[in-house]
Amino acid sequence: MTQIPPSLPLRALFDAQHHASRTQVEVPLAVRRDRLARLRTLLDTHSAALADAVQADFGVRSPQLTEAADLFVLRAGMAQLHKQLPRWMKPQRVHTPIYLQPASAHLQRQPLGVVGIIGPWNYPLQLTFGPAATALAAGNRVMLKPSELTPHTSALMASLVAQVFAPDEFTVVLGGPDVAQAFSALPFDHLFFTGSTQVGRQVAAAAAANLTPTTLELGGKSPCVVDASCDLRDAAVKIVHGKLLNAGQTCIAPDYVLLPRGQEAAFEQAFRDAVAQLFPTIAGNPDYAAIVSERHQARLQALLDEAHAAGARVVDVAPAGGGTTAARQMNPTLVFSPAPGLRLMNEEIFGPILPVLPYDGMDEAIRFINLRPRPLALYWFGSDNAARDQLLANTVSGGVTVNDTLMHVAHEGLPFGGVGESGWGSYHGETGFLRFTQQKPVLVQSRWAMGRLFYPPYGPRFQRVMDLLRRFL
Ligand code: NAD
Repeated sequence: MTQIPPSLPLRALFDAQHHASRTQVEVPLAVRRDRLARLRTLLDTHSAALADAVQADFGVRSPQLTEAADLFVLRAGMAQLHKQLPRWMKPQRVHTPIYLQPASAHLQRQPLGVVGIIGPWNYPLQLTFGPAATALAAGNRVMLKPSELTPHTSALMASLVAQVFAPDEFTVVLGGPDVAQAFSALPFDHLFFTGSTQVGRQVAAAAAANLTPTTLELGGKSPCVVDASCDLRDAAVKIVHGKLLNAGQTCIAPDYVLLPRGQEAAFEQAFRDAVAQLFPTIAGNPDYAAIVSERHQARLQALLDEAHAAGARVVDVAPAGGGTTAARQMNPTLVFSPAPGLRLMNEEIFGPILPVLPYDGMDEAIRFINLRPRPLALYWFGSDNAARDQLLANTVSGGVTVNDTLMHVAHEGLPFGGVGESGWGSYHGETGFLRFTQQKPVLVQSRWAMGRLFYPPYGPRFQRVMDLLRRFL
């Protein structure tokens, strides 16, 4: 694991950024666009090397997947930032109520200052450079701490960023949990964390000591509700895609399926066929990502072993010829009706294992979801719009895709984030820009202001004014 070079201690980096943010408070459009352009050039010039680094970190993680899920998503977000910045930076006029007229009011959008970003390993470019680009576009200085579990990628990111950014502009800090802990204790103007709910709690506590506001992009168990009205074969392909992309190591992957009772056999067959369609083999298939580490694979295996021992029906749905390899490619597996007490039903799975639970009516599915922490994502498949609306009206989740999986994250017009234990605060698009922006309310008084009418002494004139105003309210 690479540590911070002793010549650049963490606190000195922070102090340099903090000083810069307080001496150059206004960050013009041209400067912001230049920072975005440098980051974009870095990505475009080194996209192959970055994808290779991700591949090296995972063992198997196809460059095409990194292109689609990391680099493409980043480019789309950055193109939107570049285009919309002039509009988003502008002061926003606010209507002035009659009792303050003819004053005018606006929101002045300013950088927060220094933004800290802590990232996970699963989409190591998108989930680090994405918020970094947004924070830079909002005029901030950025310190980024990527994951120690993707050492090749994180080291390459650090060296590329150091080549094109001054350390007081944008810098990447390397290190494991010890460095991450020290990092989250810095008095940032905002701390943006993507990772597990467990570590998110620690980050929130560390930030609270500095009154540093946080965004927590966490995980959890995202339900996928299959309605009786759905085309099972079509749904199965989309569920397989959402579940097996990056071998299930996706924060918004469907964690478990709620299925109308009696459809288990049909779902199993449709799921098996869909796996074979998308991944004709598992072992040695360059499109099928490996589990990131031995430790993570052992945890997933333990979840399966426990379910097996408890009598759940565990079905390996890898196409014939597949088999677990030394490269940690883990076979997709369905687990039917696991008992509620199993770890499989209480921990975020984050791998290619899909519990399937039968339900007897939409009310039961809603109750099941609402008895658990609020999920990051929720999926519904079907054509019965009344059932869909009932589910959406009666559950609260970070986001929803109807009749597909994952896709709401790719829509830059939709805020992305969790709720409750799946996180707080959201980003993407203008919501992300505002996450890293102080919207400073400014009231500009007019020389014709009537404020004096409200001043003491409170005599009959004051009373007449209040009586008059009351008519307008
Ligand atoms: P993690 O919480 O283990 O680690 C995330 C980051 O936190 C790493 O950079 C790590 O070094 C750092 N860290 C570790 N200990 C820390 C501490 N005490 N204080 C501060 N930072 C610390 O998460 P992970 O395993 O990298 O990622 C997987 C998790 O992230 C899953 O739960 C997944 O659902 C979640 N996730 C969420 C989103 C989202 O957008 N909501 C996206 C991707 C992943």
